[in-house]
Amino acid sequence: MTLFEKIAARQIPADIVYEDDQVFAFRDINPQAPVHVLLVPKRLIPRLGGATDADQALLGHLLLKAPEVARRAGIADTGYRLVINNGRDGGETVPHLHCHILGGRPLAWPPG
Ligand code: 5GP
Repeated sequence: MTLFEKIAARQIPADIVYEDDQVFAFRDINPQAPVHVLLVPKRLIPRLGGATDADQALLGHLLLKAPEVARRAGIADTGYRLVINNGRDGGETVPHLHCHILGGRPLAWPPG
C-alpha cells in the first residue's frame, strides 16, 4: 500500500477535509503555504506520466473537485494554485498521484 492509500484507509492519521467515492483530500504534514491540501485519487496512479486513457474520468473528477476543496479550505475567493510533481526533477516524493492545492498567501512565480 502507498502512504496515501494508508491515509485513505485510516491506518495513518491525517486531517481529511474532503472525501467521495473516487478522491480524498487532506492537509499536507509539511505545509508550504497557510493552506496546503493534497487531493488524491483513491485508485492508485503512481504519477501523471503513467496515466492512461482509462484514467480520463478519474483525472477529470480530480480536477473538477479541486475548487470544491479550495472552497472548503476557505481560499476559493482569494485564489490558489494546483501543483502536480512528476518524477525526480519535478520534486515527486510519494509515488501516488496527487494534486497540491496551495493558497492563503500570494504565491511567487515562477516557482523555485
Ligand atoms: P510530492 O513531493 O510527492 O509532490 O508530495 C508529497 C507530499 O506529501 C509532501 O508535500 C509531503 O509533505 C506530504 N506528506 C508526506 N508524508 C505525509 C504524511 O504522512 N501525512 C501528510 N498529511 N502528508 C505527508
